[in-house]
Amino acid sequence: VTPQAHRRARLAAALGAREADAALVTGAANVRYLTGLASSNAAVLVGRDGSAVLATDGRYLEQAALSAPGLELLDDRRPAWRLARHAASEGGRSLAVETHVLTVDEHASLADADGRLELTPLGRAVEDLRVAKDDGEVALMRAAAALADAALEGLLATGGVRTGRTEREVAADLEARMRAAGGDGPSFDTIVAAGPRGALPHARPGPRELAPGDLVVLDFGTWLDGYASDCTRTVAVAPVADWQRDLHALVGRAHDAGIAALRPGADLSAVDAAARDVIVAAGRGASYPHGLGHGVGLEIHEAPPLGPAAVGRLVDRAVVTVEPGVYLPGRGGVRTEDLLVVTPTGPELLTTTTAELRVLP
Ligand code: ZN
Ligand code: ZN
Repeated sequence: VTPQAHRRARLAAALGAREADAALVTGAANVRYLTGLASSNAAVLVGRDGSAVLATDGRYLEQAALSAPGLELLDDRRPAWRLARHAASEGGRSLAVETHVLTVDEHASLADADGRLELTPLGRAVEDLRVAKDDGEVALMRAAAALADAALEGLLATGGVRTGRTEREVAADLEARMRAAGGDGPSFDTIVAAGPRGALPHARPGPRELAPGDLVVLDFGTWLDGYASDCTRTVAVAPVADWQRDLHALVGRAHDAGIAALRPGADLSAVDAAARDVIVAAGRGASYPHGLGHGVGLEIHEAPPLGPAAVGRLVDRAVVTVEPGVYLPGRGGVRTEDLLVVTPTGPELLTTTTAELRVLP
């Protein structure tokens, strides 16, 4: 039994409670999770009995046969529509669809595929299955994080973060190092934000040159065989001021408190609060405008969210980030982000490069 077949069986079991004859899965990451196929135009039909049919267009047929050997395969430019027809022809009457993924037009076309077919919401059933990672997924993310760590170490060891270099040059260097180390490309747009620009949590790297006394926020990650890594480190270009050390230490305490709160069963908003309380107690609550972290896997941002309004509980084997930050307009910002696996015996760090403040010459 492949991991993908095991996942389809779990989805089939979840269908029983929904009183649907089959699930039509169209989200790209969900299709990949259930079949192994990475495609921009594919869908998979999973029946209550665990049977499955994959549909995609001619560009992906050969890849589909390789990625999902043994799975029934249909060739169609409108894979979801074709699978809806297929479900109806097999006698299906109720089809659970990913209404959070489909456009209104796509939903209408599925409703037209066969007048006898009733469309019901599948909800985020597949996303929910994806939260707890299996050993193979964790191994890929551990490897992705390790090669991103190695890229950062190489960047810092060779003077890649120094006065006179632009944010763009540093970002390009870091991305090239991740690729050279075996990564499949950045898992999101690399952030390099120096000096006052570090106060913008999602700054795009620009032409600003690094200068003495800058804090530099580096937020980066890589894809590896479909899975993402995510890491942020804030370094200083000498000389470093006391307020910069204090800010870095404050974020570090919040980061440690967030990590200490990661355990199966923990309330998601309570994990956020564990870190946020440290920053609020220091009088910096208004300068921390985002949630503590997010799940990572086949998507860079996936369930579970860790934030003040997050509802639900952490599960064993969830992979999440912990990334508190404090941003002072006009002066700079600090964020420290690690990627961790939740386990009953305490979280395992996947990002292992030091989170201590490094001061570069
Ligand atoms: Zn990040
Ligand atoms: Zn992140």
